[in-house]
Amino acid sequence: MNEFLGTDITFLKGVGTVRAEILNKELRLFRIEDLLGYFPFRYVDRSRFYKISEIEHDTSYIQLCGKIIRIEELGTPRNVRLVATFTDGEQTIELLWFKSIKFIKSTIKMGEEIVIFGKPSFYRGKANMSHPELDTVANRSKSAALEAVYHTTEMMKTRRVESKAIRQIVGSALQHENFHVPEIFSKEICEKYKLIPRSKAFRFIHHPPSQKHIEAAQYRFKFEELFFLQLPFINQKMNRKEAAKGISFGTQNPLFEDFVKNHLPFSLTNAQERVLREVKTDLCSGQQMNRLLQGDVGSGKTIVAFLSVMMAVDNGYQASLMAPTEILAIQHYIGLSELAGKIGLEIGILTGSTTSKERRILHEKLQNGEIKLLVGTHALIEDVVEYKNLGLVIIDEQHRFGVAQRAKLQDKGKENPHVLVMTATPIPRTLAMSVYGDLDYSVIDEMPAGRKAIKTAHRFGFAREKIWQFMKEEIARGRQAYIVYPLIEESETMHYKDLNNGYDELLHFFPRPEYQVEMLHGKMKPSDKEAKMRDFADGKTNILVSTTVIEVGINVPNASIMIIESSEKFGLSQLHQLRGRVGRGAEQSYCILMSSKKLSANAKTRLKAMVSTTSGFELSEIDMQLRGFGDIAGTRQSGLDQLKLASLSDDSHIAEQARNAIVELLATDPDYDRHQSLRHFMQNKQGYKDWDKIA
Ligand code: ADP
Ligand code: MG
Repeated sequence: MNEFLGTDITFLKGVGTVRAEILNKELRLFRIEDLLGYFPFRYVDRSRFYKISEIEHDTSYIQLCGKIIRIEELGTPRNVRLVATFTDGEQTIELLWFKSIKFIKSTIKMGEEIVIFGKPSFYRGKANMSHPELDTVANRSKSAALEAVYHTTEMMKTRRVESKAIRQIVGSALQHENFHVPEIFSKEICEKYKLIPRSKAFRFIHHPPSQKHIEAAQYRFKFEELFFLQLPFINQKMNRKEAAKGISFGTQNPLFEDFVKNHLPFSLTNAQERVLREVKTDLCSGQQMNRLLQGDVGSGKTIVAFLSVMMAVDNGYQASLMAPTEILAIQHYIGLSELAGKIGLEIGILTGSTTSKERRILHEKLQNGEIKLLVGTHALIEDVVEYKNLGLVIIDEQHRFGVAQRAKLQDKGKENPHVLVMTATPIPRTLAMSVYGDLDYSVIDEMPAGRKAIKTAHRFGFAREKIWQFMKEEIARGRQAYIVYPLIEESETMHYKDLNNGYDELLHFFPRPEYQVEMLHGKMKPSDKEAKMRDFADGKTNILVSTTVIEVGINVPNASIMIIESSEKFGLSQLHQLRGRVGRGAEQSYCILMSSKKLSANAKTRLKAMVSTTSGFELSEIDMQLRGFGDIAGTRQSGLDQLKLASLSDDSHIAEQARNAIVELLATDPDYDRHQSLRHFMQNKQGYKDWDKIA
């Protein structure tokens, strides 16, 4: 550890034992390195003074210059507030304090020229400012144009160690005579990736001369964060690649070509074509494919899967496709059978409810190679299925399909079959790379042409009749609707009551024979489920009342309305999945989120997010903020909670740059001989537990 950075913060000017203790306890800042690593969350422009007359409803943090001409305490003794009238010489604005009233009052000198700083808000059409910062004009003129603002805790506010105090303490570190921050990256890396020196980056991020300097500093630190986040995973992947031999497919694909040319019901998007090229390259490489395919709900992953199957069949191999639910497996079976029928290819289905007689026939056809594609649920890995020659395994709509499960699947093939994992809900690329650290990555980042964005609204119970009326109009135009009820495991009986009541109520409003309303839930017999799904897919059913069994993967392009009851009980990714059941055709689709009026702050945020965006990538970012990274990744070890500046979705290009740097480093200097300072830094990095994985 560098001596200066390792120094205890108590040695800094302006930090006594009391302040040190507060900083230790509240912000976990112990050494100068921690302090410098405590980055501002925003900057304010101190370069100009506003006029009160310029304040508008959306005005952010500003500074005003003028004086306080009146001050009084108002309210009840238990609920006092301090109200001051401030004038800039032309107009007045009220300043309000609800806390630390005695102290504030003692610092105010009536009539003295001061600078106030804060965010205005409006009450009854008049602007006011709560808890503004006050400063003397003399002090103010010394400060930089751009001033860093730091987060502080409630406790720190009561102890009056606020943003300003942190700014001063950081300042004394930056101006310290021993100030020294060594560079950790090699000169090559710094030059190639345009990183400003680490010491400068610390200066600029805390005391920026200009916006440009802030950006350069932030870029440098984001690069660092994303570098150390990805290093262990990339290292792991490079090691695996050396090990895993795979079946080498030929480059001739007659069946594939024939299908694409003569039977494809639409033209592929550019993204779909790109992914297919990536898959093909893997399949022909001689190494085992281990690829993750991400694509938002409705982006068209199924056809990519099917065309990949074609490549396997073209080379004389069989393929399997595993789905997370029986309903989805059935749907895939129906849909893919239709496609496969065009080129005379046989498909089988295996689920938990396949009878032993059916199984026997299936096993035979798999062993003699008659069946080219086996679709199924987890039964695919739990059963003793023997293939003639399994060459490709596709796992659809899962994002927690672990390494162990993949290994189990692979034992089924005599050689290592290629593996393609398709995610249920898209997650930012960088997160994907760490959850699936050892996989290669493809993304479908483009929707098929002609899709209209789904209109989403949040409604309460009293709007229900209006919504039903709207459904009637849509049904009259030939559309179909889903109504989904949550399944709450702890109170399953109550849940079915909800579902049944909802169903009965609907039958009343949508009477037979004019309307066909059907119900679907997990407890039904598979053959009944299949029949209900078929009727809905064939357009015989107008409204399908269901549990979340339809959550994932179901594809009925004519359905244009999704109503989610008790939507506050669903997680964000689940809501996105459910909504993704509509908007799959050319018609305008709607998603209506029903909820009770009592909502937690978290539920409100979720519903608001759903209304504001239809991008699965954006929603997963919000979800991560709500639930924490580890929760989503399913692992606390992912290191994602260490990101301070970098955002997984916004900074994907920086992640990419960092990844390039890592790959180069590991390929050209695996022992870090020419990267001693980096090696040194990582060995000393607190909590950098993956060092042994890398070294
Ligand atoms: P997901 O990625 O959610 O699994 P699907 O594969 O189910 O999405 O595709 C959604 C719908 O879009 C399907 O009806 C499918 O036939 C259709 N589709 C897929 N690719 C295209 C395309 N290139 N052009 C038009 N429609 C497409
Ligand atoms: Mg799908």
